[in-house]
Amino acid sequence: MRPTPSLIVEDARVAALAEYDLVNSAPAPGFTQIVALAARLFEVPIAVVSLIDRDRQVFHAKVGVASCETDREIAICSHTIMQTEALVVLDATLDPRFHDNPFVTGPSQIRFYAGIPLRTPAGHAIGTLCLADTRTRNTFSDADRETLRQLADLTVDRMELRRLEVAQRASQSRFEQIASTSPDGIICADASGRITFWNAAAEQIFGHGSTEAIGQSIDLIVPERMRGGHGGGLHRVANGGKPRLVGKTIELPARHKDGTEFPIELSLSKWQEEGRAAFGSIVRDIRERRANEERLFRLAHLDPLTELPNRSVLRERLDEIATVGRPVSVLMLDLDGFKEVNDSYGHGAGDSVLRVMATRILACVRPIDTVSRLGGDEFVVLLPDIGDPLRAAEVAGTIIAAVAEAVEYDGQALRLSASLGIAMAPSHGNNAGELLGCADLALYQAKSDGRHCHRLFSPVLRHQAQRARVCRDELGRAVERGEFVLFYQPQVRLSDGALVGAEALIRWQHPDRGLLSPAAFIDVLDSSRYAAQVGDWVLRTACIQAEAWRSAGALDFRMGINLCTAQFQRGDLTETVRATLSDTGLPAASLELEITENIVLRQEIELIATLHSLRESGVGIAFDDYGTGYASLSLLKRFPLTRLKIDRSFVTGMLASHHDVTIVRAILQLGLGFGLSVIAEGIETEAEHACLRTEGCQEGQGYLFGKPMPADAFAAGYGLGVDASWALARRLGAA
Ligand code: C2E
Ligand code: MG
Ligand code: MG
Repeated sequence: MRPTPSLIVEDARVAALAEYDLVNSAPAPGFTQIVALAARLFEVPIAVVSLIDRDRQVFHAKVGVASCETDREIAICSHTIMQTEALVVLDATLDPRFHDNPFVTGPSQIRFYAGIPLRTPAGHAIGTLCLADTRTRNTFSDADRETLRQLADLTVDRMELRRLEVAQRASQSRFEQIASTSPDGIICADASGRITFWNAAAEQIFGHGSTEAIGQSIDLIVPERMRGGHGGGLHRVANGGKPRLVGKTIELPARHKDGTEFPIELSLSKWQEEGRAAFGSIVRDIRERRANEERLFRLAHLDPLTELPNRSVLRERLDEIATVGRPVSVLMLDLDGFKEVNDSYGHGAGDSVLRVMATRILACVRPIDTVSRLGGDEFVVLLPDIGDPLRAAEVAGTIIAAVAEAVEYDGQALRLSASLGIAMAPSHGNNAGELLGCADLALYQAKSDGRHCHRLFSPVLRHQAQRARVCRDELGRAVERGEFVLFYQPQVRLSDGALVGAEALIRWQHPDRGLLSPAAFIDVLDSSRYAAQVGDWVLRTACIQAEAWRSAGALDFRMGINLCTAQFQRGDLTETVRATLSDTGLPAASLELEITENIVLRQEIELIATLHSLRESGVGIAFDDYGTGYASLSLLKRFPLTRLKIDRSFVTGMLASHHDVTIVRAILQLGLGFGLSVIAEGIETEAEHACLRTEGCQEGQGYLFGKPMPADAFAAGYGLGVDASWALARRLGAA
């Protein structure tokens, strides 16, 4: 029985043997010479290089043996490889281990055996160099052992050469295999920069076939303007220079066969081949990666629609300038009428308008300025080093003019305007948050002042904003405790001053601040959640009052009530009005609802339907402050109006300004043409009164006839001595 090594040791030994690729190969010439030499030196008929595989012994090189292999079980060499030194058997018939071995008992008739393990540099005994004879021997001297050992060393040396050869062959084919399937370009060059290897991916990346590329200078893939540098670099490194790029991954431009330039990523390695430097590079086409990086960059920094820097870039730039105390003007701009474009012509039109406006704004500023879109129709322009409000206002004016030019869309000319708020560093703040906040307040002011204008921030605006905040907080309490009251302003026939009706005007009886006019709270109220609820209260209270005065004798009395946007948005205005009329008993014809352009601009389609149904109930509809806004003339065709209210500004101006007279005349003319009544607001003097009468205006309202006043004062002034609660009680009692 042969001795059995541990499985792990045996696995490693067999693997080591495989590295020489000898077991199934013809003997290398060197080995045959060694065994022939051994046979001669020791005067034996048999000398063998025997390899011990897992289950068999293979005679790789041999003298005096016919067979090529035997079972490992019976191999005497199986014993030899378990020893550190040579195994010498002088007479096998006398050795208990081998006396019954088939080599001894069988036709081979082996008597003498001397074998020495062949060990790899790592110490694995993978075979033996052995001698055998059919004759016994008396001795095997130390000198013999030494000779055998030297022959074994020679054999191991040869074997090592063989192993390197095998490894090289394997790694070459492994390399070629990897290179051919690699998605990366693999290019090798010699010390002079000639291409020696060019894989399939390199063909793909650069467009040159491998036969075309191999032998050429590496300049083949270098853009013309950079040529010479790479070859020179390789040359320098090949001649012992310090490699700058070896071992690193760098990005650089490369040249395609078709002449185009594109970015690649390249990792360079260097080794020695037959004593000379050789270079290999792994090349990756990074066009797609670059495109992705660019896309991500754009997503993070640019507004996708206009390609302008986005809010985060803007804040960063503004902070950069403002925090070091450098002057900068911040122009915050909002497009007036953008929502209408979006609603009426669709988002395609909206997008197109935004792109056009972006280009126009850019054209109004210097290359060092930043134009950014914050989202929606809001843009911000930074003017670094401009700390003079007049210069900032000049730029603002240019932008406003540019925005006001018509935008062509689908054969239509769309007209918008811009409102613009200006804040400046360092006077208004020294960081992005503060400055944008100030510009926003100034923008809000520009919008409140009628839009299509610019306003410079002033600390007063901040106080106003704070007041608005406080006001918003107090509104809930006001609603709950009933702090609102209605004042009534008389409306008269201009020919004889007879009372025809009143306009109900809200006031806030504030516990600390006294009686407040709408100017102090109406904007905040209109945008609050109480707007519709307060609007309902105004409607009901005024209707009760009107009915009371009608019952007290003013039979044709008409009550004008101002509506707000929220009342339309809630969607049940017609029902509310009808219910109020029926509850209070006021005839529909005695109620006139006033709408302003603010309401019209916000929601046109539903608004028209609501107005029609209100009109059908017999309620009058007046267009308030007519002529001040942008509401177009065509609105008169589409809206079921009954009256135009000439704004106070024209009345005030008409004595001094020819233009204002013209406008008043035009409104009166429109009224005639469209069958609408007209009333003039804000008549303060007899002269205005006379002028309006001459122009043919039928009715008027103003301080000349009476300021807005509480119900009792109104009743007393016009002899309508019945108060509303009494009238309602009477009506409810009658019902
Ligand atoms: P408006 O509807 O155009 O009301 C006319 C405004 O002009 C009133 O201001 C009135 O006091 C003022 N006025 C009338 N005659 C003269 C005059 O001869 N000289 C001058 N200088 N002013 C005159 P008021 O009451 O401050 O109301 C301002 C605005 O607030 C109203 O303008 C209306 O738009 C809004 N408003 C008032 N009450 C209500 C309400 O109950 N609901 C809603 N939604 N808005 C209301
Ligand atoms: Mg009004
Ligand atoms: Mg008005």
